[in-house]
Amino acid sequence: MKYISILGIYVADLVFFGNKIPIRGETVLGEKFVIGPGGKGSNQAIAAAKAGGKVNFISKIGNDQYGQMALKMYKEFNINSSKVLVSNEYSTGAAGILVNKMTGENAINVVPGAAGKITKEDIDQSSEIIKNSSIFLTQLEPPIEVVEYAIEVAKSYNITTILNPAPAVKLKDKTLNLIDYFTPNETEASFYVNHKVETKEEAKQAANKLLDKGIKNVIITLGEKGAYFANNKENFMSEAFVLKNKIVDTTGAGDAFNAGLAVALTENKNIEESIRFANAVGALSTTKIGTAKSMPLREEIDNLV
Ligand code: ADP
Repeated sequence: MKYISILGIYVADLVFFGNKIPIRGETVLGEKFVIGPGGKGSNQAIAAAKAGGKVNFISKIGNDQYGQMALKMYKEFNINSSKVLVSNEYSTGAAGILVNKMTGENAINVVPGAAGKITKEDIDQSSEIIKNSSIFLTQLEPPIEVVEYAIEVAKSYNITTILNPAPAVKLKDKTLNLIDYFTPNETEASFYVNHKVETKEEAKQAANKLLDKGIKNVIITLGEKGAYFANNKENFMSEAFVLKNKIVDTTGAGDAFNAGLAVALTENKNIEESIRFANAVGALSTTKIGTAKSMPLREEIDNLV
């Protein structure tokens, strides 16, 4: 069995729904309150497990109720959480999300907590499980120097690396050279190439620039348009799926896509099949509200593909 090791953060999303987002100094009486799992890395781990992958999640939480909530969830989805380290010093990260239920607009304050305190030594502790994986997937929410170090560790064992550069931050040239698959969305891609990336033509231009920096394969996700792939041998556009079900919530589509890509690659699907599979996971995730809960099961993905 091939494993996917995912490094990333977990935060508890505390979501307050009301008729408006309070302004400074104001108190509003809200209508609904929901606590759910958040953090791109954690969402990707759940999506990959639901899509049929064998997942190791590497992260840090606090010794508290929200941390327990995360561990319970990983157990439920058969995710190996032996490297979800529990800190006695810092509390589990949390995000306060205020949503206007009429417009869907939100205001967010994320405190990474323990997840932001993961260290290179913690990665060393996880090197054995990274070594025994076939894919290493991460994002840019954990501390950047730790992400860059973890990619070096993965590559030292010849593991295929996927970097989902979200949120976009500047990376060392050395890191770019160690990335097998780089998966920005339109906004993130434009951050790295300094021009807008919306059309297929612009995606092509951006991908070529990124390949010139030493990345092996570039996949730019383009929302309802699908995804654009390029490496030094080939390039193509993979159209998004058009579903019968209504699109209700596109948050987490990128996480679903990355998880789908990782799962497909561990199953030795070729690149076209893998992106098609990732597009299916991304599309299905938009038909349900929430992030972890909205991630599709393998059966739904297979039915669509
Ligand atoms: P992010 O969530 O990071 O902004 P995107 O919006 O590019 O990422 O979405 C990631 C992937 O999810 C897309 O490449 C596509 O496969 C799928 N997807 C997103 N929105 C839609 C949609 N409206 N219809 C079908 N597929 C979608």
